[in-house]
Amino acid sequence: MQNQSEHIQDTNREEFRFKGIPTSQGIEFGKAIVLFKEGPSSYPIHISEESIPEELERFSAALVNASEELQHIIDIAQKESAKISHILETYLLILMDSIMHDSIRTRIKEGYTAENAVIHEFDVQKQFFTLAKDPIIRERSIDFDHVTERLLNGLRNRTISHAVAEGSIVIGSSITPTDLMLFHKAGCLGFITEIGGIASHASILARSLSMPAIIGLRDISEKVQDEDAIIIDGFSGILIVHPTEDTRSFYIQKKKEADDNKLSLGLLANTECTTLDGYPIHLMANIDSIEDLHVAMKYGAKGIGLLRTEYLIIARQHFPTEQEQIEWYKELSHISFPHPLTIRAFDVGSDKYAEGLAEEDNPALGLRGIRFLLQRKDIFKNQIRAVYIASKEKNIRFMLPMISTINELKISLAFIEESRLELEHEGIPHDMALPIGIMIETPASALISDSLAPLVSFFSIGTNDLTQYTMAADRLNEYVSDIYDPFNPAVIRLMKMAIESAKKYGINIGICGELAGHSAATELLIGLGIQEISVSPPLLLELKKRILHINYSEVSQLH
Ligand code: PEP
Ligand code: MG
Repeated sequence: MQNQSEHIQDTNREEFRFKGIPTSQGIEFGKAIVLFKEGPSSYPIHISEESIPEELERFSAALVNASEELQHIIDIAQKESAKISHILETYLLILMDSIMHDSIRTRIKEGYTAENAVIHEFDVQKQFFTLAKDPIIRERSIDFDHVTERLLNGLRNRTISHAVAEGSIVIGSSITPTDLMLFHKAGCLGFITEIGGIASHASILARSLSMPAIIGLRDISEKVQDEDAIIIDGFSGILIVHPTEDTRSFYIQKKKEADDNKLSLGLLANTECTTLDGYPIHLMANIDSIEDLHVAMKYGAKGIGLLRTEYLIIARQHFPTEQEQIEWYKELSHISFPHPLTIRAFDVGSDKYAEGLAEEDNPALGLRGIRFLLQRKDIFKNQIRAVYIASKEKNIRFMLPMISTINELKISLAFIEESRLELEHEGIPHDMALPIGIMIETPASALISDSLAPLVSFFSIGTNDLTQYTMAADRLNEYVSDIYDPFNPAVIRLMKMAIESAKKYGINIGICGELAGHSAATELLIGLGIQEISVSPPLLLELKKRILHINYSEVSQLH
């Protein structure tokens, strides 16, 4: 990650400001706790031959301690956050890998300290992840660091005292979700790290705990001392050290405004979502977990417009079995009931999960989404069966990603029907009229939308990919981010074509790309005739507030 830190003000010796990347919103005041930083070089490397048995013993004891501690935290996490408990289970799997234990023991027997053997072995394993093409897998390499840290702490008999966290803001090189959870329980108010990503587990957890967080503040643990009075502004990514009275008053006011805004938005959760002149808009949420679904329901979502099922693969690091999927879908559909749950077929490949896929020079234009599923019909079939078996409450819809030809859609629909008929023959009850729709996210699908519409029950516009493929600009590439513009007329025209086709054939059309939550897009989308908008849960209430102020008769004349 690029260093985003910058020294904003140095004229007043008392107050310092640093700017990083905001990753979870909110403002908090507290005392800094700077986490202890110990590099690999702080450990001795060699031991004498007679110390080897003792060293092996030390390693075994640290292993037992670390696994017991982790199991204890998993028990806590299971009550608090399913997402995090899955992550911690992954840590436990890494920790308990017997092949790694053997390698560590072998290295100790060669005369190395347990610390050195642990660091060495974990580094070797981590390489496989660090070198992966897929950014999601690359980011998982940090799991190895977290597990290494736990083992090293155990070897040194050193644990972080989470009890001192009350009223504090934690600053560290990075933070594990485990420690973050324990700090949170002890009353910690926010965190700041030198590294990490917006999609890192700690960031995800901070957002779900509504705890302000800033990442990417390089060397910050050397610039701030324990007990320093600080303010964290998770809206703009600013950290203030030794705030003056004026700054403090400014932020007290800013926090109050943010709290008031949250409160007044909260009142909108149960408000009907219509424009000023009574045109109804179906507000739904994009989710990837049961946790997200609870938040969406709390904010008054009228169903789920996009369930990214890739999350289940990422959390488990393998394609989930039919049974695993059935349980997950059933629970999600039960919670969303009576509102719809739109399950999207695995959209793997490209920047998503890529395990088991062939290496490709140009993966965004390669075997992704439905293209992959039609090559791996075993995986596709498992998912189709699970979706149908979970559909007894009749609120599930099934959506296909990356459709770009009529043939592809016809083959997919035939395969879905064939799999459904098998269930019928097996006497397994399911929703026989389960709606099947497609994402409109390739320019081809928009251009031939009038031929696709008669074949499906609904369209959902995925502006993230529609923009990427229309503008020929990688959605993750910062060098072409100015060209990657969902407001470009080329993208809007394609959206308009899809909307017209949907209207012509009387099928539902919604939008679930990021554009749906963009404040400048609401009038445009409603004016174009979109009636179903799906956004990530934290955006729901702001979006509803905007919709309530729109006059449909005025905006619809724009087009
Ligand atoms: C999209 O492409 O707009 C979309 C919603 O799908 P994803 O972001 O998962 O590719
Ligand atoms: Mg997409």
